[in-house]
Amino acid sequence: MNKVALVTGSSRGIGKAIITDFAKKGYNVVINYIKEYNEAERLKEKLENEYSIRALTIKADVSNEDEVQEMVANIKKEFKRIDVLVNNAGIAIDKEFEDRTVEDWKRTLSVNLIAPFIVSKYVGNEMLKNKSGKIINISSTNGINAFFPTSIDYDASKAGVINLTHNLAIQFAPYINVNCVAPGWVNTDMNKELPKDLIEEETNRIYKKRFAEPSEIAKVVTFLASDDADFINDEIIKVDGGY
Ligand code: NAD
Repeated sequence: MNKVALVTGSSRGIGKAIITDFAKKGYNVVINYIKEYNEAERLKEKLENEYSIRALTIKADVSNEDEVQEMVANIKKEFKRIDVLVNNAGIAIDKEFEDRTVEDWKRTLSVNLIAPFIVSKYVGNEMLKNKSGKIINISSTNGINAFFPTSIDYDASKAGVINLTHNLAIQFAPYINVNCVAPGWVNTDMNKELPKDLIEEETNRIYKKRFAEPSEIAKVVTFLASDDADFINDEIIKVDGGY
């Protein structure tokens, strides 16, 4: 029987690369999206055709508890089980420190930190019924060190994801492995508005002298989901090329 992987926010960027790698490895996949209906449907068709797996697309705002419960119920109806959850969906609001508002903080925390809690709670309970599962949270190296106060709320949310990983690993032991991947700079839409000189400066700080490709993050995530990683638990893995 094919295993089932749910990746939140997987119609583009790192999430799309992760879901594609799962499909390539023979998983049935759940593509969660909030806005990008066309991208999600195109991806579903591509993955089903190329890898002979089944893909389900589900529109759900993962920071909304009702929508998450409905998403989990729909996955159960379609696939009967969930083997892997990747909490990938995230937002970054770029603003100067002085302009940043409490509303910005609330929005960032609700998508980047509270949503992974909500989804892990409902999916984790399903996994516990099968006494097995893998949860991988996507944090960021910004959650380990502070670099730019222009992303102060994002950084705090990603630091929170690291602590969430520790607590979920305790909560779901011994049945579910909970790990975290902390990427550095990655070539995705999230960074496409960045000023050219900042990109150049940051590229110079990276030992590998380039940003990561989304597929390079995906490979680490699908490894953590695999049986080969069964004894890796409560771990935070930086994937930043050296910085
Ligand atoms: P992206 O903006 O390209 O993709 C994020 C996806 O999440 C989008 O499809 C978006 O629609 C979706 N999303 C946002 N809010 C959602 C919600 N409430 N419910 C459901 N889906 C929602 O970003 P990306 O670069 O692919 O980032 C993916 C993850 O990796 C994020 O958690 C991000 O913080 C993290 N990350 C990215 C980088 C980077 O350099 N790009 C570095 C470190 C960590």
